[in-house]
Amino acid sequence: MEQALALDLVIERAAQSRLPQVDLNNPAFGRTFTDHMLSADYIGGKWTNVRIVPFQNLSLNPATSALHYGQAIFEGLKAYKSPAGEVLCFRPDENFKRMNRSALRMCMPEIPEEIFLGGLRELLNLDRDWVPQREGCSLYIRPVMFATDAFIGLRPSETYKFLIFCSPAGVYYSAPVKVKVETHYTRAAQGGTGAAKAAGNYAAAMYPTKLAYQEGYDQILWTDGKEHKYIEEAGTMNIMFIINDTLITAPETDTILPGITRKSVLQLAREWGVPVEERKPSVEEVIAAIQNGTLQEAFGVGTAATIAHIKVIGYEGVQYELPDVQNRPFSNKVFQELEDIKRGRKPDTRGWIMKV
Ligand SMILES: *Cc1c(COP(=O)(O)O)cnc(C)c1O
Repeated sequence: MEQALALDLVIERAAQSRLPQVDLNNPAFGRTFTDHMLSADYIGGKWTNVRIVPFQNLSLNPATSALHYGQAIFEGLKAYKSPAGEVLCFRPDENFKRMNRSALRMCMPEIPEEIFLGGLRELLNLDRDWVPQREGCSLYIRPVMFATDAFIGLRPSETYKFLIFCSPAGVYYSAPVKVKVETHYTRAAQGGTGAAKAAGNYAAAMYPTKLAYQEGYDQILWTDGKEHKYIEEAGTMNIMFIINDTLITAPETDTILPGITRKSVLQLAREWGVPVEERKPSVEEVIAAIQNGTLQEAFGVGTAATIAHIKVIGYEGVQYELPDVQNRPFSNKVFQELEDIKRGRKPDTRGWIMKV
């Protein structure tokens, strides 16, 4: 059943939906995928073969360049169902722009807006019944692009594949986390790829994260690669502190992933008149602020959890306890505000929502 659309998008529908076999209120996160996926190929200097097809495996040549040299980038965003049953996608234009900045850094081609955003809209429309409506649930959307040349010579690939697929996510409650200040390993170096959502960044973080788990922590508090003195990120989230009623977060340099949650939280903070400082706090400053009682809140911000409260910071073998999560007015308020906007319970006055 093929049907052509304006943007040269071909849709091949799944013969039968797998939805009846899935408990949308409690899906196996990251392992359950919707009926369809978007696929496009970069060949001969242009994007072609743009189609929505039934979700399926790929077949790859063993020399596929991405597997060897890591030209692979991805995005992560979510869609929600409003009380009226509309599908609401949160700031996909920002993911589109960020993916193209990642592409530039990794020597990969830009993806056109009509394929990323136009294709996403069609995909969400086709698989709209997969978007959970229950409080706390969402549809996780994963765009990914990788090098497909079947060539083991080292050079930027000439061909690429772009995919968008989706996975329903059940109620996500993020318990307050214990984080360890990392003073040996580095997530991102000056001049490196830390600002890109490049696959290799996440592979490089796995070993230090495993060591932190073994010490009883949930996540790593990444510090600068030069001196390990300044706090940059928390695991795969941006990090924010409230010290003396001022919100402090690292600025968007080339070692910081420019999070869309970060950007949204900063905008709300400024609208609410909260003083904001975009600078890297030093570890010393944060520990001193915990000790003298001026640190009021510390939290990670990212698409998965929106806000992840930090309850303990471990540094040089000492565990520092942070204020009770109930006594954190800013992060609790900003979480509620963002949830209300994303789920359509508050009007979208900022143009953050793509309605499908
Ligand atoms: C994706 C990501 C974030 C958060 O970005 P969002 O757009 O808010 O989801 C922060 N840090 C790292 C390292 C990331 O990969």
